Amino acid sequence: MDKKSKEFLFEYLNNASPTGFESSGQQIWLDYIKPYINEYMVDVYGTAVGIINPKATYKVVIEAHADEISWFVNYITDDGYIYVRRNGGSDHQIAPSKRVNIHTAGGIVKGVFGWPAIHVRDAAREETPNLKNIFIDIGAESKREVEAMGVHVGCVITFEDELIEMNKKWLVGRALDNRMGGYMIAQVARRLSENKKKLPFGLYIVNAVQEEIGLRGAEMISRRIKPDLAIITDVTHDTQSPMYNKKESGNLKCGLGPVLCYGPAVQNNVLKMIIETSQKRKIPFHRKPVSRQTGTNINSSDYLSEGVPSPLISFL
Ligand SMILES: [Zn+2]
Repeated sequence: MDKKSKEFLFEYLNNASPTGFESSGQQIWLDYIKPYINEYMVDVYGTAVGIINPKATYKVVIEAHADEISWFVNYITDDGYIYVRRNGGSDHQIAPSKRVNIHTAGGIVKGVFGWPAIHVRDAAREETPNLKNIFIDIGAESKREVEAMGVHVGCVITFEDELIEMNKKWLVGRALDNRMGGYMIAQVARRLSENKKKLPFGLYIVNAVQEEIGLRGAEMISRRIKPDLAIITDVTHDTQSPMYNKKESGNLKCGLGPVLCYGPAVQNNVLKMIIETSQKRKIPFHRKPVSRQTGTNINSSDYLSEGVPSPLISFL
């Protein structure tokens, strides 16, 4: 990763891009790839597409998703506490004591998911965090004060966490799912351009919105592009940490290459081509079976229903 790539990665990752509210992240992404593409388009819901060889009739998509899971302000109590609703699969278990950014028209309002102190909890009857009992404190004493701070029902909330490097080799941060994919497909555009590679097809570099709530962005854009081949990227889980069960989740380890999916949603000839290329170029990879839905944009009904051959490459 050179300096320019790293600056882009940190800017892109540290920017909030909640599902349905991805525009600022899409702008950062487009600004980075614009010098390396011939054209771009953005659909009305915000999916951004960088295009190389727009006139070519054979169209290849490489795709990642731009959105991140978050929360919504769902209810404000009379004494100024905020109850939330999920926007994507946000985790209630990890919420208590996490600091949050509430995104308002007037900018960020800081808050924290509260939880009663250990001293006052009954050890025999500990409640586990769930959507009914987790709440955010923004330091307001009344609903009116909350509203005066610019926070209203429908505001989007993200955790405060920013990107860090751990032990000089790992990245830790919010929304690596799947802005690492967005970073990677942007790098494809840059490397093609800097190495002056000419492609015999049109390449559509798609940063799709709204994956986390049902793969909606990919569905919309695939209808518009009508690709002949769509290579989907997302992230998956390293299964080496405590509490993972390799018999269930497979044996996947960071640093040993991306994960190629096997399953009915994956087109076999394309998968074979990727495997042969990886073997020829000595690029390590994992294999992972998925029986029905992959839970990623490969299952976006249109890539599938239009019969677009689609392999899935997952990062660790
Ligand atoms: Zn994802």
